[in-house]
Parts: sequence; C-alpha cells; structure tokens
Amino acid sequence: MKDFTINKAIAFELPPVFEGRHLIDGAWIASTDRFDRVSPSHGTVVSVSARGGEAEANAAIAAARRAFDAGVWSRMSGKARATTLLKVADLIEANVERIALLETLESGKPISQSRGEVGGAADLWRYAASLARTSHGDSHNTLGAEMLGVVLKEPIGVVSIITPWNFPFWILSQKLPFALAAGCTVVVKPSEMTPSSTVMMGELLLEAGLPAGVCNIVLGYGDPVGSLMSTHDDVDMVTFTGSTVVGKMITQASAGTLKKVALELGGKNPQVIFPDADLENAADAVTFGVYFNVGQCCNSSSRIIVHEDVAESFVARVVALSKQVKFGDPLDPDTQVGAIVTPEHNAKIHAYVEAAIAEGATLELGGGALSVDGLGDQFYQPTVISGVQPDMPIARDEVFGPVLTVLTFRTLEDAIALTNDSDFGLSAGVWSENMHTCLEFARRAQAGTVWTNTWMDGYPELAFGGVKQSGQGREIGSYGFEEFLEVKSLVMRIGRSRAPWVQTST
Ligand code: NAD
Repeated sequence: MKDFTINKAIAFELPPVFEGRHLIDGAWIASTDRFDRVSPSHGTVVSVSARGGEAEANAAIAAARRAFDAGVWSRMSGKARATTLLKVADLIEANVERIALLETLESGKPISQSRGEVGGAADLWRYAASLARTSHGDSHNTLGAEMLGVVLKEPIGVVSIITPWNFPFWILSQKLPFALAAGCTVVVKPSEMTPSSTVMMGELLLEAGLPAGVCNIVLGYGDPVGSLMSTHDDVDMVTFTGSTVVGKMITQASAGTLKKVALELGGKNPQVIFPDADLENAADAVTFGVYFNVGQCCNSSSRIIVHEDVAESFVARVVALSKQVKFGDPLDPDTQVGAIVTPEHNAKIHAYVEAAIAEGATLELGGGALSVDGLGDQFYQPTVISGVQPDMPIARDEVFGPVLTVLTFRTLEDAIALTNDSDFGLSAGVWSENMHTCLEFARRAQAGTVWTNTWMDGYPELAFGGVKQSGQGREIGSYGFEEFLEVKSLVMRIGRSRAPWVQTST
C-alpha cells in the first residue's frame, strides 16, 4: 500500500495581490509601512497590508470609544442591531468564494474547508442576531411592598478583539457578532499572517450599514498594536484567541487597567478509546481530529489514550486511514489537508517528533516534511507515534501539527488520570458503547467541552472555551454573549414611607 495520498498542484490562476488597509471610524486608511503575506502552499506574495503602529491603534480605540459613548450603536434597539447582523450574514454568504480563496492562500488550509468555515460563519451572525433581540435582565418583585429591583444588562463598552491565524474568519465570527449584538463597539486586530479575510469582513460591515466607528480594524503585529489594545485606558475588555504564552502576556498587560479579559488558548486534547467502542468510527474520528487543519487547531485531538487490549489493532487502523487522507494542494477541492503555516513552524513540529523518537517512542508513520509536486515542501507528513510516555514533551505540549501521539490505559481511573494530567483543559472525547462509562468520564474530565462518540461537533448555541491554561470565559452560545454584557442593579423605592436616617430636631 502507498504511504501517503498526495494531491499535486492543480493549474490555477492566482488572484491579484490583495491590498489590506485599516478601517478606522468608517474610513479605509493606508500606512506607509506595510507587510507581505507569502502563501504557505504557493510560496508567493498573496497580500500586502498596511502595518499599523501606535498612531493607528490609538485612532481606532478613540473611534470605538466615541461611537460607544455617542450611543449610535449601544443605545440602538435590539431589533435594529439584529437587522444589521442579519444583513452581514447574507453578505457573508454572497461572498464566500472570494473570502475563502484568500483565506486558503494566506493560511494554507484546503479550499473546501475555507468555504465551509466562511459560509458556516453566517450562522454565527444569525444566532447572535437572535440574541440581540432576546437579551434581558431580570426583575425582583419580592423585596417588599415598597421596593422593586431590576437587574439590567448593558454592553460592557469598547472591546479589543485579537485573533490568530488558524481560523481567521471563523474565530472573528465567534466574537464580533456577539460583541455587536450586545451593543459594544470594537477594535479588531487579525493575525499578521492572515489579515485579509478580516478586511473583507470590514467591507461587508460597511455595506450592511454598520455606523462608523462601531467596528474598527487595525492590521499589524502584537507589538505595538495588540499590546496597546490590551493596555489602553479606553478599552473595557479584551477578547483574545491565540497561544497560551501570549494569553498570559495579555493578562499581565491588562492588569494595569483591570479590564475584563476573555481568553481562548491552546489545548492538548485527548480522545479516550474503550475496547467496547465502535472502533471503526472512533478510528475515523481520531484521524479527522488529528489532521483537520493540519493539526494546527486548538481542538486537535493530538493525543489518544487507548485501552491496552485494543491499542495495537486500533493504531494499525488509524495508520491505514492516515495513508488515505488527501494531503496536498489546498486549492484542489479534493484536498483534505493543506500546508503548514510557516517554515519555522514546520521545523518546530519536526523537532518534537525527533525528540520523541530519541526518547524511545515508536514512529508508526510519517515523521518528516512532505513535498508536494509543483508546490514545494511546506507540508508535513501524517505522523503517528506510539509508545509515548506521559512526561514526554510531545505528550504534554501543543505541537500544532499532523502528529498523533498514542498513550495506553488499563482502567477508567487510569484514563481519567491521564486525561487530566495536563496543563490544558480545552476539550476531551470518550468512545464507548457503555453510557455509564461515557458519563463517568464526561463528568470527571477537566475540559470545557467533552464529546462522547463524536469529535469536534459544535453549534452556535453551545458555549465553547477551556479550563486550566486553555483559557477563561466562554465564547458563543448565550454564555459567550453574556461575556460582553455588564450587569447593573436598579433599586427603586416605589412607596413614600422611607424612614429618615437623620433625626431632625424640629
Ligand atoms: P499567537 O498567540 O501567536 O497570536 C495570536 C494573536 O495575538 C495574533 O493576532 C498576534 O499578532 C497577537 N499578539 C502577539 N503578541 C501579542 C501581544 N504581546 N499582545 C497582544 N497581542 C499579541 O497565536 P497564533 O500562533 O496566531 O495561533 C495559534 C494559537 O492559538 C494556538 O496556541 C492555538 O491553540 C490557539 N487557538 C485557540 C483557540 C481556542 O478557541 N481555544 C482557537 C484557535 C487557536
């Protein structure tokens, strides 16, 4: 049997280089300084973006502050806000092809996946629109005859949104429509590696009629743009998705102003396979879980914990499936797994693999860079490593590549202990036909999401986020929406009998 399935380069005329500018107070602004993005798969410049500095970040924050304080969005009715969000959803659907192509060229992900993510994001906007209209606080009519208490929900204010390169449009849509639904104004900074789909989102927002200053976009790097967005006095909240290292930096940077911080960080997510599971289905889900987005995914199931009795045959099954996953040209609609984001990242993945082998782990498949005919070698082979010990870096760190590590267990207690023996706690999965096993695992796994007999299914209604060093706060769902709201208690005396505090002498 062949070792891998590789789709060579297809003939394709690349679009003109995309020119990205900042969106500040409703206007497109250029900078003299610019930065390029070289496509990870095609090795050619696909976008040139304005490189923001302190001036642009300050201007964007000031515009968001002014718009918020003027109430042009924050004091609008929920119905009016929802109408705009629904228009954005329609516009996203009308522009899927254009946005998806650039997303693929900048990130290296397969075009079919980009289409799914961009088109699917429309649903997040529609769900957020429904929240804009149904948001409410509560009332307390039990405080006594003369008192009435009302708890109001109000937009938190100006929100900084900082996003990573691995799901640029999707993650933006996990945050932005929810912040807007709540009535907040925002400053967005996309990753310097994938800025263009966020600029395209800005175009759609203007077309949908979002008032000037409500959503501002600054292109550039963590330093100084992201860092100013985390420290500035006029910002009330930072919502960040990215690495745990930068998440910690943002927490420290924001401490000076005690702004609210919501963090979606890394993961080292296990799928636990019991011998009574539907092993065929589980093997397919494990294969999907590790290679989706070339493993450059916070939800990557980069470690499996499989019962000793079935470990050998299960690994053989995953290896056989891995050989059939279609790696290669991300522009080929048939490709399932694309390129690695940068050469440096490819080298980092490989260093983890080499270290594991040097420490005594067994390479079952792959283990090296992958060359794709007509595109070069910024790809990595599907890789499976067994005999991994829980203390090896490859079993503990977020490798962020198409690399599966296999650990084994004997009892449910062992499986839970291995699952929780991690600094991370984003997601976990369990495979068993026994409902009691699944529920016991689900209740004791330290993770923000637990999947039973499936992997990575998600819905706008269900909150997403992590525990431990995978983050704080939640995204999407009503819980994610609530993150952008502040709570105010309104205490009202409705009778006239308030006893005076000061005893007057006359
Ligand atoms: P990163 O942390 O390197 O960068 C993320 C963003 O932060 C970028 O826009 C970057 O410019 C900005 N940034 C960098 N330094 C900054 C600073 N000092 N202050 C403010 N902003 C700064 O992450 P990445 O490499 O783009 O993305 C990969 C990481 O994201 C992985 O760890 C992955 O697990 C995580 N991730 C998490 C989730 C989740 O929902 N939990 C989803 C996707 C990605």
